[in-house]
Amino acid sequence: MKTAEKHRLLLVLFKSHHGRCCYCDRFVSLTWDFNLQKRPDAATIEHLQRKADGGRDNPDNIAMACKRCNDERGGADWLTYKTFRRGEFLEFQAARKA
Ligand SMILES: [Zn+2]
Repeated sequence: MKTAEKHRLLLVLFKSHHGRCCYCDRFVSLTWDFNLQKRPDAATIEHLQRKADGGRDNPDNIAMACKRCNDERGGADWLTYKTFRRGEFLEFQAARKA
């Protein structure tokens, strides 16, 4: 994906996500500055099904995540990671024990 295309896509995602990360729900920083893009809260394009697992550039497979979540997710599937980041997974475990 070309840089201009990425920027355009990030703007669309930033609007549709109301400026929040699809995983942790925190506000992201939208920036075109290369150095600022290394910040943990920098907006990144995220493939819900990872490209390594056959995920494509389709709009329904693309979301916006902060760099921290994008870097940290690793091989976890997106829904598991989302519930983990929002603490919902731990709440679910606690509820089952109760
Ligand atoms: Zn995040």
